[in-house]
Amino acid sequence: MTTPDFEAQLRSVSLRITRPRLAVLAALHEHPHVDTDGAIALARANLGSVSHQAVYDVLKVLTEAGLIRRIQPAGATARYEVRVGDNHHHAVCRSCGAIADVDCAVGHAPCLTAADDSGFVIDEAEVVYWGTCPGCAAART
Ligand SMILES: [Zn+2]
Ligand SMILES: [Zn+2]
Ligand SMILES: [Zn+2]
Repeated sequence: MTTPDFEAQLRSVSLRITRPRLAVLAALHEHPHVDTDGAIALARANLGSVSHQAVYDVLKVLTEAGLIRRIQPAGATARYEVRVGDNHHHAVCRSCGAIADVDCAVGHAPCLTAADDSGFVIDEAEVVYWGTCPGCAAART
């Protein structure tokens, strides 16, 4: 996997190029599905001091611009990732909270057809696969 051009990504959505934005994009590229605290720690490792609020704001702006995706499985903290636009889903471990990407068999939202949409214009079916990750499964046996 080659490193994407984060500056070009920011330009493509008319966002100013700042070091915190570049640092957060790079961090999420290296570490998919980190939560806010994880993103702060990774940004600090890259930039030195950066405030909690600054990273929080960057995550919000990048999410709104569609450069990153925010996911929040039930009972978990919000996670962020740079893999956007493919409607992929997630497998979540009930024991340790590990998250893995699961490709969408259909590839676009909504990938489940409602038997009865009650007149709603449905644009997304949120799919989460819950189970046990390989590490936790191995630890049990
Ligand atoms: Zn696990
Ligand atoms: Zn993902
Ligand atoms: Zn799907």
